[in-house]
Amino acid sequence: MNRPVVELKRLTRSFEQGGVRIDVLRGVDLAIRPGEIVALLGPSGSGKSTLLQAVGLLEGGFGGEIVIAGHSAEKSDSRARTVLRREHLGFVYQFHHLLPDFDARENVVLPQLVAGRPRVEAEARAEQLLVALGLEHRLDHRPSQLSGGEQQRVAVARGLANKPDLVLADEPTGNLDEATSDKVLAQLLDLVRGEGSAALIATHNERLAQKMDRIVRLHEGVLE
Ligand code: ADP
Ligand code: MG
Repeated sequence: MNRPVVELKRLTRSFEQGGVRIDVLRGVDLAIRPGEIVALLGPSGSGKSTLLQAVGLLEGGFGGEIVIAGHSAEKSDSRARTVLRREHLGFVYQFHHLLPDFDARENVVLPQLVAGRPRVEAEARAEQLLVALGLEHRLDHRPSQLSGGEQQRVAVARGLANKPDLVLADEPTGNLDEATSDKVLAQLLDLVRGEGSAALIATHNERLAQKMDRIVRLHEGVLE
């Protein structure tokens, strides 16, 4: 029962830049337990986004092994990877990527419909999450009618909508001012904890990272 939600084994990734090969990930090992919240720290360019893309099964080109909820990504075809992503993972990006023509509620409802949840249940779930994030007065507002912090909180609700086992967040508050960033990141943490999801959160916020269960640092292509 206590198998990791994700396991990375000797994960590698290299890029060609101007004819030069750079080894960004040089053998990353990581296992995250159910419900565990892990902060991913490391300077800009150290490979945090690359690592999160690997776990998110969003791109190929990686060496080593990625195991999501016991399923090896390498042994899955692209359809099976899509199912793994939908059933186990939730995403929160630095920029919210909300759909501009839909209100806050609908932005959180839509991914649930894609996952097969009936609309009535999806709406109830969306409202529950948005209320938990203090957005009860913003349900019918479109992204352009919301502040940056509010937009990002809607994106948090969307990322959690399908009750993912693992939330992947890439500098989820990186485009907000410091005070708002602190507040939204603290809310994200509370919500993830309340839901019992695990999370891997790339952040520059050392102070809030201390509130997570574990900190891992990318340095020269490995975790320390
Ligand atoms: P971080 O998120 O920690 O700032 P990234 O994962 O974005 O770091 O990038 C790590 C390194 O990999 C950087 O040197 C970056 O230039 C390089 N890199 C990332 N994606 C690509 C790509 N698609 N093509 C070439 N180089 C890339
Ligand atoms: Mg990055």
